[in-house]
Amino acid sequence: MHPTLAYAAHSPTSPLVPFQFQRRALKPGDVHINILFCGVCHSDIHQARDEWGNAAFPMVPGHEIVGKVSAVGSAVTRFKIGDTVGVGCLVGSCRICSECQDDLEQYCDNPVFTYNSPDPNGGTTYGGYSDNIVVDEHFVLHIADSLDPAAAAPLLCAGITTYSPLRHWQVGAGDKVGVVGLGGLGHMAVKFAKALGAHVVLFTTTPSKIADAKRLGADEVVVSKNPDEMAAHNGSFDFILNTVAAPHDLDAYTLLLKRDGTLCLVGVPDQPHPSPSVSALIFRRRSIAGSLIGGIKETQEMLDFCAAHNITSDIELIAIQDINSAFERVLKSDVKYRFVIDLASLRS
Ligand code: NAP
Ligand code: ZN
Ligand code: ZN
Repeated sequence: MHPTLAYAAHSPTSPLVPFQFQRRALKPGDVHINILFCGVCHSDIHQARDEWGNAAFPMVPGHEIVGKVSAVGSAVTRFKIGDTVGVGCLVGSCRICSECQDDLEQYCDNPVFTYNSPDPNGGTTYGGYSDNIVVDEHFVLHIADSLDPAAAAPLLCAGITTYSPLRHWQVGAGDKVGVVGLGGLGHMAVKFAKALGAHVVLFTTTPSKIADAKRLGADEVVVSKNPDEMAAHNGSFDFILNTVAAPHDLDAYTLLLKRDGTLCLVGVPDQPHPSPSVSALIFRRRSIAGSLIGGIKETQEMLDFCAAHNITSDIELIAIQDINSAFERVLKSDVKYRFVIDLASLRS
């Protein structure tokens, strides 16, 4: 067993506080990781505040984990002590269903999420707001030494959640691609869409983010509260990735799609969006779709793409003691563009 320092939420309304527990002893296929950095995803807030209705307390959030391998089980073949590794949203799946066989573990009927998930080893999974974790090697990712480990942490969720739909819908040169919301996911989507060769338009509610959006790779920026700016893009997009974490009018974006264009939702608001207009869909055969993180094979592909293109997240490094104020700043869209916790602070 591994004694573990962490921060946990004990109810939807209480702040995160110090918490101690034991990680399991290594099984033959397990990797033990000393966690260096963990990103702060908006999903951590949704779940710690029970906005999706599935919260189990105490809850140790965190699914953007980067650390160093400190021990390996006897059957581990792909990792050795000292490797820099990552863990994202998944630490288990059935491994035998058709989704798992297709390397799409995120769509397995029995996924084990990194936190707030029933743990087949007993109890509930606890995430990366902690100093170590034990994970089956299938769900551990290699992180290139050329990437800054703190700035690489958000790739494990914000990165793969935006990379996967851009690849699935085959975004590339010649495509006009929209990204809605310049937050943790949105700023990664801008970087990936640009690296894939698309013409990238960022939609924001925050005019003060315009210069940053252009620096991050957006060719154009639209302030979505301005109807004239929106209407100038009617019927022109191949693909729009919507990362917004709050309910809003989706028709404003479907109307901007070309024939056969797709609006893909990755944001998961606590309340439903207003029902979309059918006529905005049937004229021009447009689609509204959704996408969930990415499989393990594709997550490794994304990390290797990041190493090849020198892509990481733009981060604000914080101590774990600052986590509650960080949550409040994320809710105000006031983060540039991902908080990452330095877990060394757990021991200070
Ligand atoms: P985030 O950093 O808070 O970014 C969301 C952005 O949405 C904000 O920065 C803001 O951008 C915009 N926004 C916020 N409130 C808005 C409103 N009322 N109307 C319009 N725009 C608004 O959050 P994140 O970590 O990127 O996560 C985004 C969402 O994706 C969350 O719901 C999260 O749970 C979900 N998520 C889904 C998956 C998946 O697999 N599908 C994975 C991870 C996260 P501007 O200031 O530019 O407008
Ligand atoms: Zn996440
Ligand atoms: Zn499965």
